[in-house]
Amino acid sequence: MRSTFRDVGEVAARQLCCGCGACAYACPGEIEMIDVLDQGRRPRLKNALGEASRTADALKVCPGVGLEHPREKRAPEVIRELLPTWGPVLEVWEGHAVDPEIRWASSSGGAASALALFCIERADMHGVLHVAARPDVPYLNRTVLSTSREEILAATGSRYAPASPCDELHLVEEAPRPCVFIGKPCDVAATVKARAIRPKLDEKLGLTIAFFCAGTPSTRGTLEMIRRMGIDDPESVVSVRYRGMGWPGKAAVRFRTEAGEETRELTYDQSWGGVLEKHRQWRCYVCADHTGEFADVSVGDPWYRKIRAGEPGRSLVLVRSERGRRAVAAARDAGYLRLDRADPAILPASQRELARTRGAVWGRTLTCRLFGAAAPRFDRFPLFWTWWTQLSLKEKAQSFYGTAKRVFTKKLRQRLTCEPYVPPRARETTAVTP
Ligand SMILES: Cc1cc2nc3c(=O)[nH]c(=O)nc-3n(C[C@H](O)[C@H](O)[C@H](O)COP(=O)(O)OP(=O)(O)OC[C@H]3O[C@@H](n4cnc5c(N)ncnc54)[C@H](O)[C@@H]3O)c2cc1C
Ligand code: SF4
Ligand code: SF4
Repeated sequence: MRSTFRDVGEVAARQLCCGCGACAYACPGEIEMIDVLDQGRRPRLKNALGEASRTADALKVCPGVGLEHPREKRAPEVIRELLPTWGPVLEVWEGHAVDPEIRWASSSGGAASALALFCIERADMHGVLHVAARPDVPYLNRTVLSTSREEILAATGSRYAPASPCDELHLVEEAPRPCVFIGKPCDVAATVKARAIRPKLDEKLGLTIAFFCAGTPSTRGTLEMIRRMGIDDPESVVSVRYRGMGWPGKAAVRFRTEAGEETRELTYDQSWGGVLEKHRQWRCYVCADHTGEFADVSVGDPWYRKIRAGEPGRSLVLVRSERGRRAVAAARDAGYLRLDRADPAILPASQRELARTRGAVWGRTLTCRLFGAAAPRFDRFPLFWTWWTQLSLKEKAQSFYGTAKRVFTKKLRQRLTCEPYVPPRARETTAVTP
């Protein structure tokens, strides 16, 4: 896919960056990832006067500028009725991790973690590249390569905050054996672009798992969530969970007080619906892939029915490739996943909101272009069809006038400067480091 952007700095300045970190992997000498408080993880060019030619690979791997489904004919067993709105799906399953600790700690039913664990314990893979809380600043994230059950367990649960798992793809490339990659749909799309230009990475990416994603809230969102819990000093925070420990589980923040430590909680609706959702980066509003169309396997919540209080977690599992089919079947046979084959109709019934968001993308990107704002390109995505079939008349109109308004309120025609957010604790550490 050819890009009209000069470099990834411009992608970030024009608010098309998803924060995946693939550009930092592609050009480590030239690009580093920083956290921008109201935006997310963003690339920073280390040499301000750098030549665009030195960062050309960064644009080649960037999912922010657009995505492209392959030209080749789809596998005949692709489920036709799901294809236009949900991308290629070969099989739909519902179930959960067999390991009760993983199931309990995970976001949904722990399918992502259990499948990854199977790959390292039984399928001769080396590790899992994914995201976990930063131990020094627990309301920020870092990328980790987990090689044991304990490490995978410690990283369970969705983190509704900026994370760039592709920034450490070199760990996969250098690993002694293939690895699993877990990330958001845009993170996985970035790995597909990256493996196309890096044969060593291609060889070492053993399995890609994406989870469904409605959008990434900025760090400002997490700080606001912490404040809503009545915690005034974010620097007193010891741990942050957004979900898990039940289904969907509560957002829970543990913090230090004069008397010791205390935990405050918000329900999923109070944390996601009440705070975090409103802080999603702009790129998520024009995202055409919310369900991991480029992954081998994608997982989400089977929210097609009402969940009973205290019900243990369950996962909706989509097999999207032959490699994914083999991995899911082997993990099931080896007793890592308990799965039942499901009617494909449970996917649209579970994720109505994601279908509508994807539906709005055609109207939103068209409006952006008309008003001189940047918009991603999506090749071989039937976006007009989704817009036409998934939205009501009012929603169709909203996809135009709502976006026209946002072009101005979100300053989409301007070039934003990306200032790094340095948490006070990190600032103190830097100050004493010689
Ligand atoms: C930003 C965001 C938006 C989401 N939106 C939806 C939605 O619209 N619909 C829906 O059904 N579910 C959504 N989820 C939740 C997620 O798709 C499900 O919980 C999914 O079923 C995974 O559950 P699991 O129990 O298999 O995962 P787990 O076994 O708990 O594993 C979760 C994995 O995700 C990784 N991870 C966590 N946070 C991030 C992050 N921010 N970036 C990259 N990797 C991360 C962890 O490292 C871990 O490996 C969202 C999650 C996030 C982080
Ligand atoms: S989307 Fe990813 S590759 Fe593109 S600029 Fe942002 S961090 Fe870099
Ligand atoms: S909504 Fe799309 S662009 Fe935004 S974080 Fe999720 S997958 Fe990435």
